[in-house]
Amino acid sequence: MVVLADILSAAKTIRGVADATPMVPSATDVGGTLWLKLETCQPIGAFKLRGAVNALAHLPEGAAGVVCCSTGNHGRGVAWAARERGLRAVVCISALVPEAKVAGIRALGAEVHVAGRSQDDAQREADRRARAEGLVAIPPFDDPHVIAGQGTIALEMLAQRPEIDTLLIPLSGGGLAAGMAVAARAIRPEIRLLGITMERGAAMAASLAAGHPVAVEEVASLADSLGGGIGRENRHTFALCRDLLDAVVCVSEDEIYRAMQALYHEDRLVAEGAAVVGLAALMAGKLAPSPAMATVLTGRNPDMAQFTRVISGGDVVLGAVTVKGVRHG
Ligand SMILES: *Cc1c(COP(=O)(O)O)cnc(C)c1O
Repeated sequence: MVVLADILSAAKTIRGVADATPMVPSATDVGGTLWLKLETCQPIGAFKLRGAVNALAHLPEGAAGVVCCSTGNHGRGVAWAARERGLRAVVCISALVPEAKVAGIRALGAEVHVAGRSQDDAQREADRRARAEGLVAIPPFDDPHVIAGQGTIALEMLAQRPEIDTLLIPLSGGGLAAGMAVAARAIRPEIRLLGITMERGAAMAASLAAGHPVAVEEVASLADSLGGGIGRENRHTFALCRDLLDAVVCVSEDEIYRAMQALYHEDRLVAEGAAVVGLAALMAGKLAPSPAMATVLTGRNPDMAQFTRVISGGDVVLGAVTVKGVRHG
């Protein structure tokens, strides 16, 4: 179980290393104030550093190194935190992870292994290497230290803007949503907590609808960081998301595309598709606005060739699907 005390403790652990990102109001018109928590300003360009730093601070004595599977940003966070501690880091990814994210992980000195076409394949490879090479596995979301680390974002947001009445939380495996929800519900019980994800290949949304963890087919998405399953043996995030989120909202690739454009042209910010799903849901009218909403710009590590096509209104090919280009404004 993860409780507020764990998140307060994580906040102490990561202080001065992976905390204190700015929060700014969005310039995009969404029918109410929308605060943007800029986790894009983390040293690795994504919030996952929080969970990774907290998890690596709790390694068993004498650990030889760490291993993880990742859609990109968790691997980057683990690689960064391992380098700080002088530890070996091994990151297992699927072939769906964009090259830009792979390069970012390698640049931090981690070993990257590509295994299969899905997060489940990458997870199996990480498990195998943990056993074979005596490495400690750092799960991308279903781990109490990782959840507590991500939860520190909500502590900061509610301290920065106590009037926030709604949190729009990008949702994949649910480490971010679970941690933030534990903190926010404890501090402000009446706050509205919404998980936001993409329509295609969203495992947590499908699992919450089914009432138990289910697998979904993994497909290419502008929100590539939201891909992957939640694990059939999910121990923490499924129950926390089920018990603490008020609802889950799903956005289409076209809606993500337009939100990436708006964030760039109106707010002058670069972010990946996974980061803009909250803004996308509001722009698409998929949830009722309120006076003081906030979302987390979770990461700024897109494939830049794809990103420049989006902001300039070009077509984007995602596997079997093409997002038809449209110019902003
Ligand atoms: C990992 C990630 C998410 C989702 O986090 P979960 O804890 O898996 O739900 C959202 N956005 C970005 C950029 C990420 O890297």
